[in-house]
Amino acid sequence: KGNLLAGKRGLIMGLANNRSIAWGIARAAADQGAELAFTYQGDALKKRVEPLAKELGSKVVLPCDVSDAASMDAVFAELERVWGKLDFFVHAIAFSDKAELDGRYVDTTEKNFSQTMLISCYSFTALAARAEKLMSDGGSMLTLTYYGAEKVMPHYNVMGVAKAALEASVRYLAADLGKTGIRVNAISAGPIKTLAASGIADFRYILRWNEYNSPLRRTVSIEDVGGSALYLLSDLSGGVTGEVLHVDSGYHVQGMKNEDAPDI
Ligand code: NAD
Repeated sequence: KGNLLAGKRGLIMGLANNRSIAWGIARAAADQGAELAFTYQGDALKKRVEPLAKELGSKVVLPCDVSDAASMDAVFAELERVWGKLDFFVHAIAFSDKAELDGRYVDTTEKNFSQTMLISCYSFTALAARAEKLMSDGGSMLTLTYYGAEKVMPHYNVMGVAKAALEASVRYLAADLGKTGIRVNAISAGPIKTLAASGIADFRYILRWNEYNSPLRRTVSIEDVGGSALYLLSDLSGGVTGEVLHVDSGYHVQGMKNEDAPDI
């Protein structure tokens, strides 16, 4: 427990269950004194998200589907009503048709390409535009990305293309919003077994490959991501914007597999 985020109010989007990266970040933020609001996607997740939000003392839990502009408007209208201002928001949202997180990227359909881009990339920009209005004293915006944006990873396919666009949008948003003291950053997390990750073919192999071949020789946890998120959400990172911070046991610096890696 500490007070890195004491007096700050933050919105957490993308909580599905207690294995979500959003949960690791929310718990870390609440432990440091932040007051939190949450959104959930649809009624099916409401019953999972409400008790988790309550556990962290949150009184603001709202539905939001980021493919629906009216639903995003409603969230920010309510935040304006109850809080008047916002200090940070976390976007931990991505979606693609599972059938295309397998096989070849070249076979991506136009429909799923657009849908993946809309939910996994454009939504962060759409939410940033709304959040900006509540951040007149500055603020911190954070999204989640993956190394598949930079290098080809098996089966990541259209999601890798969407994450590359998301990382570029972090830089453009940082430039647009910097004048008012709003910082925009991303965490590039190593693979973690979550609901979204279970849609990726052969995910267990990817986990083991990262464990054996990263400098730290382990995979990362949602607590690892939460700890780094605290830095980006708090004033500790006051001079940092447009950045993609890798929280991946150092995997992205490796040029070849580790010599001591067992066969998998
Ligand atoms: P998760 O399944 O727990 O979270 C994904 C969330 O996206 C869910 O809460 C879901 O409701 C939400 N979502 C999907 N479509 C939505 C929509 N239309 N409107 C509103 N919400 C919607 O999985 P996670 O792994 O915690 O994913 C969080 C973020 O972290 C994603 O951006 C993901 O790409 C990223 N990420 C994950 C990993 C990993 O290995 N798990 C690695 C790097 C980055």
